Order: sequence, then structure tokens, then C-alpha cells
Amino acid sequence: MSEFSTLLADVKEHILYLQELGAENFAVDLPEFLVSPNSKVQSSKPEISREKLGRFVPSDFELPKIESPKHKTSNAENNSSRQSLLESTKLSRLPSLPKRSSFLNKQTPDNNQTKETTRENEMPKKILLNEDAPQTLFGDMTETLPEATETLEDIRAYIGNCIRCTLCESRTKIVHSEGNRQADLLFIGEAPGANEDAEGRPFVGKAGQLLNKIIESIGLKREDVFIGNVNRCRPPQNRQPTPIEAATCRPFLLREIAVVRPKVIVVLGNTATQNLLATKVGITKIRGEFQDYFGVKVMPTFHPAYLLRDPSKKREVWEDMKKVRDFLNQ
Ligand code: URA
Repeated sequence: MSEFSTLLADVKEHILYLQELGAENFAVDLPEFLVSPNSKVQSSKPEISREKLGRFVPSDFELPKIESPKHKTSNAENNSSRQSLLESTKLSRLPSLPKRSSFLNKQTPDNNQTKETTRENEMPKKILLNEDAPQTLFGDMTETLPEATETLEDIRAYIGNCIRCTLCESRTKIVHSEGNRQADLLFIGEAPGANEDAEGRPFVGKAGQLLNKIIESIGLKREDVFIGNVNRCRPPQNRQPTPIEAATCRPFLLREIAVVRPKVIVVLGNTATQNLLATKVGITKIRGEFQDYFGVKVMPTFHPAYLLRDPSKKREVWEDMKKVRDFLNQ
């Protein structure tokens, strides 16, 4: 039920967000249960804030005040707010805005915020606009890995004694990322298993020992690389994290990537690959070919736990790792 509420809140927030941006065709009549102030579904106050749009508009531009669209914003209103934004910013079109997803956190331990949007967490802090970049809904843009304005310690403190998803109920220890913060190579796994949960460190069980061998096979040591997981708490019975669990935890890893700024990221298995690259393509199809994450090379390969079940797949991982080694050595 709580997942359903979160979903409803997500839908509502997206609609309001699109309305406040003036996107056409989103002047929908929201059902009462989605808009009622007494609704159990938590909602965000729709407003254009500098936080949301500030990096896209000149700093001296006064953001327009938009009435909260209680039920419905007419197309005319949408068009006029969009038009005034375009005119005031002297842009012929609005640049693309961050996608929003609104997993509503139960608690943010390090401050008094009660709500935070996952995508905002994930958003690069600096977006570089490039006239030659491919078209998006609102304009042209190229995204490159942002300069981090925080440290790994800041992120760790922000995570705190996390209770943002239900995995906190069964975990023993939060398993944070670890390793060389100046690493050229970063590995991403799925989520801790029993050994990791007990020790509070990633990849320390059998799969971890195999990962160490994989790292050594290209002439590096575990201490040279940075290792993290999509989820930091062990899912019961080692099941795959649900999309909501992954979306709740993933932002912290993405923020760490912006701090470490590796040259290559190796994503281990389906969950890591699909969460980093926002794809549904399976690992068997995508492995072995470099992908891109904000300008960083990404090599998808099989998860070491899978290799333990099917050692014949080690050959493919070796092929993939040779590509990583050659790229790092060039
Ligand atoms: N599998 C993972 O994906 N991560 C770990 O930390 C351990 C096993």
C-alpha cells in the first residue's frame, strides 16, 4: 500500500511539475484523491523555484510566481506562463529540465527535511549546454559529469542511519562504498549479501573474493579501485532490490561517482547495469561494449556471483576486463 501511495504521489507530482513548466497537453483534470489536501498521499507544493530552474536562467531573472494548480491549469495559462518565461529569458526554447521522481523519504536524518525527490538527489549539479547536442523535449543539451560540491564524508553523513526504505528493517549493517577515492576504476554491484551485511563492507563474501581476482587479473589491487552497490542494505533472502528500493539508494552512489570521477565504471550484472544506464536491456546483450555515463566509459559485465554459478562465463568477463585494462593503459 505504501508503494502504491508513493506511486500516486509520483504521478501527481509529475503532472503538477509539467503543468508548472507550461508543458502543453498536461492540463488534466486530477482526480480528487490526488489533489485533496486531506489525501493520505503526500504531495509537494508546486512552485517554480530557483533551485529547480536557477541553473537554466540568468541569475537576475525574476522567476514568475505561479498559482498552485489545484485541479486544472488551462492550456491558455500554460502557454502564457511558458511564453513569459521564454520572453524573460530571451531563449527561443526552454532547456531540458531534470526528470523528477518523487520517492518520498520517511526521514532525512541529517536535517529537518521531510521530503526529497530522488531525481534531484541524482541530478548532476552542473549541466553543460552545447548547441550541437542532440534534441530533447525542451532543447539541446549535453550532460557531462558534474564537479562535485561535496565529499564522500558529506554523502555518508547525509545517508545517516538510513530508514528511507523498508530494507532498513532487516539489515544488520549499512554497507557503504569503499576504496580509493581517486580511483580510475569503479565497480558497481547489486546489493550486499549475508557476509557484507554482517561486516558492513561490500564484496567480502565468495563473490567478493572472485571480484578481487578479477581486479588482480588486470594488474590492479582491490585498494586501487572504488567499489559500491546500487543498494546499501541487504534485501531479504538476497532477492533483487525492487525498483523503488533501487531508486531510493542509487542517488548516493551516483553522487559518489561525481566525487571519485573514475575513468571507467564496471557494472556487474543486470541490476547495476540497468540502474546506472537507465536501460532495460539485459546484461547478456549489453556486456562487453563500452557504454557512456555522463562522459565516463561504462563496461557492463557479468556479476561474480553469476560466475560462481556458471564458471564458463569467466571467459567473457576476462574479455571485457581486457578492454577496460587497455582503455586505462592507453
Ligand atoms: N553482491 C553484490 O552485488 N554486492 C556485494 O557487496 C556482495 C555481493
